[in-house]
Amino acid sequence: MPAWQTCLVVGIAATLAYTLLPAGAGWQATGYGLIGASCVVAVVGGVRFHRPDQPGTWYAFIVGLAAWLASTVIDRATSDPPPSPVSGALELAGYPLMCWALVGLIRGRARAHDRTALIDAGLVAASLGLLYWIFMLDAVVADTTLPWGQRTDAVVVAAGDIVLFVLVSLLVTTPGARTASYRLLLVALLLTAVSDILFVMGDDASPGRSQPTDVLSLLANSVAAAAVWHPSMRRLTVPLSQPPAFVRPRLILLIVTLLLPPAVGLYQGATGHSGDNWLATGICSVTLFLLVGVRMAGLLRRVETQARRLAQLAQHDALTGLPNRRQWDERLTAAVADSAATGQPLFVALIDLDHFKKYNDTYGHQAGDELLATAAAAWREQVRDGDVLARYGGEEFGMLLSGCTAAEATGVLDRLLAVTPQRQTFSAGLARWDGREGPHALLHRADQLLYASKRAGRARITADIEQRAEAVSERG
Ligand code: GH3
Ligand code: MG
Ligand code: MG
Repeated sequence: MPAWQTCLVVGIAATLAYTLLPAGAGWQATGYGLIGASCVVAVVGGVRFHRPDQPGTWYAFIVGLAAWLASTVIDRATSDPPPSPVSGALELAGYPLMCWALVGLIRGRARAHDRTALIDAGLVAASLGLLYWIFMLDAVVADTTLPWGQRTDAVVVAAGDIVLFVLVSLLVTTPGARTASYRLLLVALLLTAVSDILFVMGDDASPGRSQPTDVLSLLANSVAAAAVWHPSMRRLTVPLSQPPAFVRPRLILLIVTLLLPPAVGLYQGATGHSGDNWLATGICSVTLFLLVGVRMAGLLRRVETQARRLAQLAQHDALTGLPNRRQWDERLTAAVADSAATGQPLFVALIDLDHFKKYNDTYGHQAGDELLATAAAAWREQVRDGDVLARYGGEEFGMLLSGCTAAEATGVLDRLLAVTPQRQTFSAGLARWDGREGPHALLHRADQLLYASKRAGRARITADIEQRAEAVSERG
């Protein structure tokens, strides 16, 4: 049997045996102490065996576990109240150590400081705090017949539990491998929490007998030992390479926490306690609304950023960064409509690199890509901001020039030809919008003029800017 299963089986069997011990403080203290100490030893053994990345995290966990164990043993040995101050101090010391350990785990699993995870933890803390206060603490704290020690003890344990709950919820929401060791650890934390809730609710009525709270905490310790011995324990503190999106669980968390204060108010109204806890409910509501507001603002920012990025991706060519074919089609249609409305002249040019296949064959496809990118960057410099230079496809580019003269339009193309890198050339066709044709027909004419340039020997611009074809220029 693997070691982690042995821990589980032996732990459960020993806990069952503990419930069968005869009544009496001595028996209870000895039984609890022995089983608890075995669990602590097992955890130490597991940590030494697996040698995880963050030994400090694990030793904090071990010392915290030992402190809680010692505190309970002292409590059981001195069954008569008032509780010993030493046990109270040990119990108190256990909380920061456990928190230290959980924070270590969370930081190991999270890739960066995640602000949204912190806000979610604040939401859990506020809503759990309200529940604890109204249903457990309020009555204990207000009950002046109880000894002072018992009242402060309940507050301390409850506060510690809230912190533990928050950390556990952070552990659930931070990305990381969901391994068997991880699941066992969550079960152990859950059992501890339930045990503490029972303790705060004062279910500790029959001294000298095995307590449900003790049974649960012994089980929790055995499960924790199994988690530490599981082979996957080393991966507990390793973040995922691709963090998953936790959109749905987090949305449910937001809704549940927001519904809590009104639900508590309704419940109290129905049971005749309306208004009893208006201050606690009010403070909690304000805190929750503010946190949810901040959280929503963060979500909105993220959606906006992603939308901008998507729009950028959908409209631009990845290699050259120029507007892509989709954007070109839209801008061409818009430019024709614009010129129809304003009467401004409009020129469309199609540019095709010469012998680009040969360039690829000679220098390689990578060099071909580089030429496309550097040519696009060099050309972009020569084009005014309002004009459009787009990658039409492959080694073909389109240009839209509006509100300029025919001489300026051919001048721009001449400049492009002159700055084309690697002493490469292109052939181009330049057409002037005739005032009636649609974008498709205009583009078709530019394409035919481009082929005229190719046929005439390449490295040139053929323009039809006064409604008649003429060779305008030729590179050198
Ligand atoms: P012409 O002067 O007649 O235009 O000859 P050409 O070789 O440039 O024309 P052709 O249409 O025969 O070949 C175009 C070449 O462009 C073929 C293809 O491999 C290359 N090409 C198209 N897109 C890319 C790209 O994104 N990267 C690279 N490196 N090459 C590309
Ligand atoms: Mg081509
Ligand atoms: Mg070509």
